[in-house]
Amino acid sequence: MRRFLVAGNWKMHGSSEMTADLISGVARRVLDAARLSEQKELGYDILVCPSAPYLSQAVDCSESQPISVGAQNVSQFDSGAYTGEISLSMLAELGCKYVLLGHSERRMLFNESDKEVAEKFSACLDHSLIVPILCIGETLAQRQAGQTEDVVAAQLDAVIDTVGITGFANAVIAYEPVWAIGTGETASPEQAQDVHAFIRAKLDGLSAEIAQAVRIVYGGSVKPSNADEQFAQKDIDGGLIGGASLQVSSFAGICEAVQKIIEKT
Ligand code: PEP
Repeated sequence: MRRFLVAGNWKMHGSSEMTADLISGVARRVLDAARLSEQKELGYDILVCPSAPYLSQAVDCSESQPISVGAQNVSQFDSGAYTGEISLSMLAELGCKYVLLGHSERRMLFNESDKEVAEKFSACLDHSLIVPILCIGETLAQRQAGQTEDVVAAQLDAVIDTVGITGFANAVIAYEPVWAIGTGETASPEQAQDVHAFIRAKLDGLSAEIAQAVRIVYGGSVKPSNADEQFAQKDIDGGLIGGASLQVSSFAGICEAVQKIIEKT
């Protein structure tokens, strides 16, 4: 049984005050909900990915809370003359546990290529302390042209060709249709499930064990009002949340939806 993951991508938002308030507020709400549940425990993982300046504070605030901290990006290089970049060792030293790789905003606004994303993924495996969350997904034009599976397969292949299928033994995949990110328009549960099933089937062709174990989360305008139907899908193992991760009420509401799904299963 795969463990759900609810991850918040704060993008370039936040402040020290927000970091402290959001982590303590979410922790309080999700722990209360877990206490009231039949399981009496939080049966899923929660992650927040603040901007780099707040990572250290976020790690401090989440100590002894059921919330991990991840970064939104990392360099593929270990160290050296790479002004403005941050290495995996630095993130690990701060206490980060995950890193987002290849978010569509990085691919589109900062021209991050499949090759660079694969190199960063490979660096995470070499480093081994930080779990990569590989973001993949098609644009609206690609979906309308019937290319969704080809696009997602090519983004996956770029990484598989570099690290092999075993690279996914300790990784997360985030399927994020670009047209659903920050637009308020979410993929229908069936649309999302179809792509998640396609991704899992593709991995299954290389390793049934890894395909069954890997968490594939959905991202794209997830809110408390649509989280339950998205996360109830067979191959959807949680979410990567942008806008709704910036408020205690909406992020905790999404976490609570996961708690209810766990209770039903
Ligand atoms: C994201 O940025 O990864 C994302 C899913 O954003 P939003 O939830 O705002 O669509």
